[in-house]
Amino acid sequence: MYLNNIVEAIGNTPMVKLNRVNDGIKGTVLVKVEYFNPGNSVKDRMAVKMIDDAEKAGLLKPGGTIIEGTSGNTGMGLALTAIARGYKCIFTMSDKQSKEKQDILKAVGAEVIVCPTNVSADDPRSYYSIARKLNAEIPNSFYPNQYDNPSNAQAHYETTGPEIWEQTEGKITHLAAGVGTGGTICGTGKYLKEQNPAIVSVGLDTYGSVFKKYKETGIFDEDEIYSYKTEGIGEDILPKNVDFDLIDLFIKVTDKDAALMTRQLAKEEGLFVGWSCGSAVHGALEYAREHLKEADTMVIILPDHGTRYLGKIYNDEWMREQGWL
Ligand code: PMP
Repeated sequence: MYLNNIVEAIGNTPMVKLNRVNDGIKGTVLVKVEYFNPGNSVKDRMAVKMIDDAEKAGLLKPGGTIIEGTSGNTGMGLALTAIARGYKCIFTMSDKQSKEKQDILKAVGAEVIVCPTNVSADDPRSYYSIARKLNAEIPNSFYPNQYDNPSNAQAHYETTGPEIWEQTEGKITHLAAGVGTGGTICGTGKYLKEQNPAIVSVGLDTYGSVFKKYKETGIFDEDEIYSYKTEGIGEDILPKNVDFDLIDLFIKVTDKDAALMTRQLAKEEGLFVGWSCGSAVHGALEYAREHLKEADTMVIILPDHGTRYLGKIYNDEWMREQGWL
């Protein structure tokens, strides 16, 4: 019994009950541990789907180059798929992403171009603009554009959603996930709400991001945009993959609260997970404390693994420098 390549190991991740960090909260709180994917993140699911769909549409041909702007995790999924299928990869990344993420992508053969964080998305130096420019210049290249590519949410509609429905035997009442491109929560939420429209989906956002205000007022407020440290969630754009009708409410979580909860997950639950997992759990539990009933089952998606943050939130010295310890 073996898989033909590592890409076939994507999906079917375990779901685990929280036992300590949810102390005092009614109902059952489960986490879907996405670091069990071969690239150690939830983004493997959509990476392989974007490539599959591009191949089918004739957008990606043998020997082609995949170019993407990525906070690291999508890049890993794309790089693993590229190895299995014989493509080259060039990734643009903002300089706030952890050094570990850059090194991991280089380790799996990708070329990484680091771009400044503190420029607007349409600035020619931004990682979005550089990815587009390279795509225009390099022949036989494909720019998946995870923000607007429907294959992203579709991957979660086809895999993450059905897995959660089966693993909870249809008992899920609340879904909680961080929102970056929106693919995870919207694809998963769409499937689950089709099974049971009463399921509530809670999107976790960061301070410095536009989502929460946009959901509540319909206003894209540039004053909401400022730099923050949490990696992978919150945006200064409205990606097409964020379908606001599929997210019932947003909760914002600070960088510090997210970091502290991430460390607590490692120490108290044995879940050595990434920073946005702390955001997701902190925000979801804030909601659960007030709204969850004894019979409810909440599922929180934990996107990635702790190794990517060893130099930051798992480093006591770094935490002290932030004033967080
Ligand atoms: N957490 C991390 C660490 C991520 O890399 C991402 C992807 N940007 C997310 C959360 C959010 O997932 P999505 O893009 O599907 O909204």
